[in-house]
Amino acid sequence: MVDSSLGAADAANLSPTAPRRVGVLGGTFDPVHIGHLRSALEVAELLGFDELRLTPNARPPHRDMPQVTAQDRLAMVEKAVQGVTPLTVDARELLRDKPSYTIDTLESMRAELCAHDPLFLLLGWDAFCGLPSWHRWEELLQHCHILVLQRPDADSEPPDALRNLLAARCISDPAALKGPSGQIAFVWQTPLSVSATQIRQLLASGKSVRFLVPDAVLAYIDAHGLYRAPN
Ligand code: ATP
Repeated sequence: MVDSSLGAADAANLSPTAPRRVGVLGGTFDPVHIGHLRSALEVAELLGFDELRLTPNARPPHRDMPQVTAQDRLAMVEKAVQGVTPLTVDARELLRDKPSYTIDTLESMRAELCAHDPLFLLLGWDAFCGLPSWHRWEELLQHCHILVLQRPDADSEPPDALRNLLAARCISDPAALKGPSGQIAFVWQTPLSVSATQIRQLLASGKSVRFLVPDAVLAYIDAHGLYRAPN
């Protein structure tokens, strides 16, 4: 018998067949910073994720090569999430010897989950608007829900190619996403105004990035002399 003092979420967790709620946040993480981490943690708590996988890209198809090696970027993300439940690191894109296509990542994650486990792909608004240029983008929703991270002050219009998709698949409340995949919802967040570009620039000009990255990441950057201009 379920304890009547438990909430619905607690009661669901007692069930051996409770779906496992898994989120995915891809990125270059060159380096990972508090903007990524705070945003990830807020979404994970809002949506009750069992796990939110930070997934570093190997060779991102849509942008320049990262400045430091995949091994260093992975090590920094691992240090950043250590002991921070439910954030984890997923290195599968770094193990593939080809561009990091999100559809491949989702297919392989989906194959490891139970069919009823919801999978959530987190995308910033800019990334979401660029979706029509992604490899096999129309198949993404077969494997996951999409959570679009949007700023409260933004008033952008989606590209035409996404209007029909949004009309058919978007629901207003992210907490109401149903089933393992297939829907889109917006999560309104006030992001911390920090970027990896800014951090690389600060380091290259000999400035401190203290408090912009976790201390363990700063220690790694210092120990390996990353992003500093050569003497
Ligand atoms: P760069 O400055 O090199 O472009 P970045 O800081 O934007 O890097 P990415 O690794 O490209 O970091 O970002 C991975 C994901 O994290 C993207 O979905 C991006 O929108 C999101 N993100 C980046 N910065 C922030 C931030 N300050 N707050 C919330 N989300 C962020």
